[in-house]
Amino acid sequence: MFRYNEHKNVEIPTITLYSEADLPTCDGNFHVHVFRNDFDDKEHIALTVGNIRDERGVLVRVHSECLTGESLGSLRCDCREQLHESMRMISKAGKGLIIYLRQEGRGIGLGNKVRAYALQDSGSDTYEANHQLGFHDDERDYSMEVSILKYFGVKSLLLITNNPEKIRDLKEHGIEIIQRVPIEVKANKYSEDYLRTKRDRAGHMLDHLDLKDPSVRVIDVQCNSCPALDEEDDSESKKS
Ligand SMILES: [Zn+2]
Repeated sequence: MFRYNEHKNVEIPTITLYSEADLPTCDGNFHVHVFRNDFDDKEHIALTVGNIRDERGVLVRVHSECLTGESLGSLRCDCREQLHESMRMISKAGKGLIIYLRQEGRGIGLGNKVRAYALQDSGSDTYEANHQLGFHDDERDYSMEVSILKYFGVKSLLLITNNPEKIRDLKEHGIEIIQRVPIEVKANKYSEDYLRTKRDRAGHMLDHLDLKDPSVRVIDVQCNSCPALDEEDDSESKKS
């Protein structure tokens, strides 16, 4: 299991709210906030439902951008389903926060993420591919989320995640996490190896991959009609 690396930002960035507006979505009505900061040139986003200011026990998802999954519908990862399920959960709860960080490909950027996909197609796993490209396992930096949580004055979280490192990192920044809320997406033949690697190498809590525990709620892949999943091929036997 890896620890976050020394290159991570230890300072908490200073953020300023640049713009905000209501944002009705298929998953519910949100208020979108766009923040600028003094650490990187990205615009990071917060989606809120209800009044979370200075509240305790706020349902929170910290989500990193995935253009291939969220915009293009890639089946190689579980990002899109995790994002939209989190939005639905928070909408249903009537109160909560999604912090959407613009750090594509676990922080290596879009071009390098696609390079890593090509390496994975030649047999490397997701972390080995990062190493071959000269990156760490995970280049993401979560100090931005601390700034955003502090902006809203959120006192304690119910954190929607499977990632133990995210929990550890927030706690190290002094953020109180009351409870982890699991969010498991059903593996498909393109994502199964990736999900298993995340579980085995980074300790992600993905109970459904082997345990088949019926009490674990697993989100299905959001495809109305999905020719890529219907295709017969030699990995068909791995389908869950
Ligand atoms: Zn993704």
